[in-house]
Amino acid sequence: MKVLVTIKLPPEVLSLIAREHQVEGYDADPPLARRQLLKSITDKEGLLCTITDRIDAEVLDRAPALKVIANYGVGFEHLDIEAATRRGIMVTNTPGVLTETTADAAFALILAAARRVVEGDRRVREGEFRYWAPFLFLGQEVHGKTLGIIGMGRIGQAVARRARGFAMKIIYHSRTRLAPAGEQELQASAVPLETLLREADFVTLHVPLTPQTRHLMGSRELEMMKPTAYLINTARGPVVDEAVLVAALRQGVIRGAGLDVYEREPQLTPGLTDLDNVVLLPHVGSATVETRTRMAEMAAENLLVGLRGDHPPNCLNWAEIQEKK
Ligand code: NAP
Repeated sequence: MKVLVTIKLPPEVLSLIAREHQVEGYDADPPLARRQLLKSITDKEGLLCTITDRIDAEVLDRAPALKVIANYGVGFEHLDIEAATRRGIMVTNTPGVLTETTADAAFALILAAARRVVEGDRRVREGEFRYWAPFLFLGQEVHGKTLGIIGMGRIGQAVARRARGFAMKIIYHSRTRLAPAGEQELQASAVPLETLLREADFVTLHVPLTPQTRHLMGSRELEMMKPTAYLINTARGPVVDEAVLVAALRQGVIRGAGLDVYEREPQLTPGLTDLDNVVLLPHVGSATVETRTRMAEMAAENLLVGLRGDHPPNCLNWAEIQEKK
């Protein structure tokens, strides 16, 4: 069958797909241009794509033969799953393999923001480290503080496990409450969102981007946070109203932030890069050699199994497609 791969894959993973199918691969870093995607998809049965490809009805209308969309990544707000299901197209993602790595990134942002790691590095390079003094470069403690986790799924729970090692008090707000055994194991208490915002020293976001979570953190929510608190976002940019966040950071409504994702990435809200109290990463939550390899293997496996007509291990719409048959 014919397969379009819109991203660079490790050569051994690409050849795994090429053993069974005819692959049109895209071997460059900038995202595949929309017009190229629309052109290349027309005769394909399989698509391996990622967050930078918007797979909507327009794309699907051009792809009458498409059977499987294998997404490289866990978040799937860029895929119109309903439109795919209506056409009987399986959609898969790569959950689990990036959980611990993304939790590491969230914790890196917590520590970097609170202990001013990036700002300190910048000052040392600028020749500003001239002497040691008791009040220079004071940050905030992380250990023993209260961590507020919004979205207690796979990544949220992995962050909670790390926080236990820092003797943090863990409170969380999620759509579905953990089972008592899960709360017990993580020593985490479910609280209403308002309570979390008022009590947490660090608020960390781990919800998917959905209509309900878009701008979950707006001016009302930021104003509820402690003026000494930090907001950490490794979920999705639009979960935070970025213009409001920039103003809040500038005016001291909250003390700082650590961001891996942006509302209109890769564009940044003007003023964000002028602030010293925010640590900025270029959407690298899952970016380690090991995890990116596992994501590629998982996406390829989902694709291959789906193209054989079997149930891919991480199919998001399998039941709905079976119902339609
Ligand atoms: P997950 O296991 O599905 O966890 C998401 C959690 O959010 C679930 O507990 C879910 O509740 C909860 N939730 C959903 N809607 C909510 C709402 N409106 N209010 C409160 N809680 C809500 O997903 P995950 O694997 O942890 O990944 C989370 C997100 O992280 C992904 O969707 C992706 O966007 C992002 N991510 C980013 C990176 C990066 O590179 N920065 C890497 C990986 C993932 P239920 O249990 O009821 O579903």
